[in-house]
Amino acid sequence: MNTSAPVLTAAAARVIDAVKVYGSGDTEVRALDGVTVEFPAARFTAIMGPSGSGKSTLMHCAAGLDTLTSGSAHIGATDLSVLDDRRLTLLRRDRIGFVFQAFNLLPTLTVAENITLPMDLAGQRGDSEWIDALIDVVGLRDRLHHRPSELSGGQQQRVAVARAFAGRPDVVFADEPTGNLDSRSGEEVLGLLGRTVREMDRTVVMVTHDPVAASHADEVVFLADGRLVDRMPDPTPGRVLDRMKDLDPKGGA
Ligand code: ADP
Repeated sequence: MNTSAPVLTAAAARVIDAVKVYGSGDTEVRALDGVTVEFPAARFTAIMGPSGSGKSTLMHCAAGLDTLTSGSAHIGATDLSVLDDRRLTLLRRDRIGFVFQAFNLLPTLTVAENITLPMDLAGQRGDSEWIDALIDVVGLRDRLHHRPSELSGGQQQRVAVARAFAGRPDVVFADEPTGNLDSRSGEEVLGLLGRTVREMDRTVVMVTHDPVAASHADEVVFLADGRLVDRMPDPTPGRVLDRMKDLDPKGGA
């Protein structure tokens, strides 16, 4: 083997020829119309596109929350289409983290308990050194015994970010993670997602309609009408905005 050959970046997640059809006959919608895309490991990828372009559908199918009509979705080397419901649930629990627009924290639990909840439910101890490092990265060391209601929105989303990464998943999917935050808190959460990728070698895939949010990613993939239409490495807010204007002159994202 030639050890000086460049190391190819492995895909943490990918979809191949992904088609998703909702409804049938007159009401049929092709939400995904033959998308092939990979999300490289240890990278931060944003999915952008006009409203209705298929962003959420792509994320849900890539993350095993929904199934494709045809084509395949893979987490690492695992083909999700061959898994039964039980194995799919275990895969989501053990190998995928989620951050949603609504923080989805349990109000009666402390910050520390919310962070380790998925592992506690799974009867796993977790890697305490890793979780400890994570708590510092998200800046919640002095809030561990607070309840979510005692925290700002930005702090609550930082708890959700820590929870998503706590089990060292192969990939974290974030669906409009800054949608409920003011711009300053949103910037903090995005900076945090970026730091977790760059400093802790994690993989993040984020759906967003916000060019500023997308510019925190290493790369942006653009969807239009259920198809992958472009990829942009090293995005800036201005370039993302210009591309979006081409895709959606009405600005309905
Ligand atoms: P985006 O996230 O880019 O706004 P979506 O993935 O939510 O786009 O939707 C893509 C298309 O699929 C839209 O036309 C939407 O109306 C349709 N769609 C999404 N979910 C459903 C569903 N459960 N039933 C029927 N149509 C759906």
